[in-house]
Amino acid sequence: MEIRLASKIGFCYGVERAYNKALELSNKHEKVYIYGDLVHNNDVKSVLTSKGVNFFYSIDHLPDDAHNSVCMIRAHGIPKKDKNYLQSKFKEIIDLTCPIVEKVFNYAYEMQQKGYFIVAYGKEEHAEMIGLKGNVDEKKIKVLKEPEPFNHNKICIITQTTMDYNNFKNFSANIAKFSMYNELLIKDTICYETKIRENEAKDIAIWSEFVIIIGGKHSSNTRKLYEISKKLNENSIHIDSIKELKNIDLSKFKKIGILTGTSTPNKSINEVIEFLRRGF
Ligand code: SF4
Repeated sequence: MEIRLASKIGFCYGVERAYNKALELSNKHEKVYIYGDLVHNNDVKSVLTSKGVNFFYSIDHLPDDAHNSVCMIRAHGIPKKDKNYLQSKFKEIIDLTCPIVEKVFNYAYEMQQKGYFIVAYGKEEHAEMIGLKGNVDEKKIKVLKEPEPFNHNKICIITQTTMDYNNFKNFSANIAKFSMYNELLIKDTICYETKIRENEAKDIAIWSEFVIIIGGKHSSNTRKLYEISKKLNENSIHIDSIKELKNIDLSKFKKIGILTGTSTPNKSINEVIEFLRRGF
């Protein structure tokens, strides 16, 4: 059996940076809190919890010992007013918003200053989009997944960093076709990590007889890789742990491809590779 592993696997740059910092801080400080999950992956959360890292999920319910603790802001970023509030409550804030995400926030703000209305292709409930809206003028931005007509003098279309490139192009083309404007600017703000993984997903899905996509079930970028693979190869499966492979007869497949989301820890990937190499 041949195994083909995507060249980009495991954590992306932004997640790795935040994860390493969380571990480093947990060694140095008495109490470290992360606002929200660092990534949508239970294994990652368990490792961090075992190292003494804590989590809180609502700005309205801060930990009692906040004033004696360090608060980490995860890679997705948060609204400016929330950051200011946390700064006033915690001993220290460590902002680990991914620099690529921060660049998108700054770009949107800059374009608003130049008179553009921002249309962001993304999921309104996604942490990155909540962060984006909270770092710009909320009256001059709309986040949406399905195109709709706009009527503004200047429109600038951007995208959540983890969206699909072809879908973004279709979305932008539809806004261009049905909206009224004098100027339209389309800026592709998809992260390079996401693009590389998506392109490879297509190659691997075509090459493989069976494709395993490893990552949390709530991880949107892992789910997207699964959707890309499934369209090209019916024999695609999204798993978040090796247990899900144990009842599948893999012996009939001679070529198995492996893809992973940007929040998938190396441990989960190695377990799957080991399982395949051992011959199930
Ligand atoms: S996917 Fe890209 S933008 Fe998002 S955290 Fe990772 S490196 Fe940063």
